[in-house]
Amino acid sequence: MHFDILTLFPEMFAPITSSIIGRACDKEILNFNFVNIRDYSLDKHKSTDDYSFGGGPGLVMSAQPIFDAMKAVNPKHKRVLYMSPRGRVIDLPKLKELSKEQNIVILCGHYEGVDQRVLDYWNAEEVSIGDYVLTGGELPAMVLIDSLARLIPGVLSNENGAMEESVYSGLLEFPQYTKPREYEGMEVPEVLLSGNHKKIDLWRFEQALILTKKQRPDIFDNYVKNHRDLTKDEQKVMEKVLRML
Ligand code: SAM
Repeated sequence: MHFDILTLFPEMFAPITSSIIGRACDKEILNFNFVNIRDYSLDKHKSTDDYSFGGGPGLVMSAQPIFDAMKAVNPKHKRVLYMSPRGRVIDLPKLKELSKEQNIVILCGHYEGVDQRVLDYWNAEEVSIGDYVLTGGELPAMVLIDSLARLIPGVLSNENGAMEESVYSGLLEFPQYTKPREYEGMEVPEVLLSGNHKKIDLWRFEQALILTKKQRPDIFDNYVKNHRDLTKDEQKVMEKVLRML
């Protein structure tokens, strides 16, 4: 999957060139082309923004440098996304849909955002990471890329791993522990050391139910309404948790 990322601050993207996403780039599963919008400004001071017509506080990113940066990445047959708090908030269905694309252009805004004509002309879809406002689109773009990359085959070592995580699996994930068995007087739950995988799976299922009910009752209610294919033992655990809480 190839990303063209249009930004005034390409240096902000250092975090997505390391760790799991960095390795996916080394394997050429992902490819990033960072485009500095300022390089395309025809203004003698390389300015990229100006006051908003009609008044109001703050500056708006001008059309010209973004238009020319867009032309340089040839977005004709590419999906163009504009990171924006006005957009639809990304969720699993949206990520699944985007994961089918080969090429994505991401425009990062700053200040008060971008001249509307950029969005209209390039048919940019506004995409949000949540109902809060950040200073620029760079962090939201990284959130989008990271969450999307996890769904691309080959990025995670465990192919089905992504769908077993919190929220995506329909529940929050159970508590996890690693060595040592005892730390600061706190013991790892005995069942996890038993080697009995059936018991471990049931314990984890119970913990996931308890945690979800406590921390995300909305997800829990949805799971109770929609879950299918529970084994008899899982059904018993579910009934126990429903009685408990
Ligand atoms: N004036 C804009 C508005 O009210 O919709 C907000 C501009 S914001 C300060 C600057 C830039 O940050 C935006 O152009 C967008 O690219 C990015 N941004 C801020 N919050 C975001 C969010 N929740 N999701 C995605 N991008 C966001």
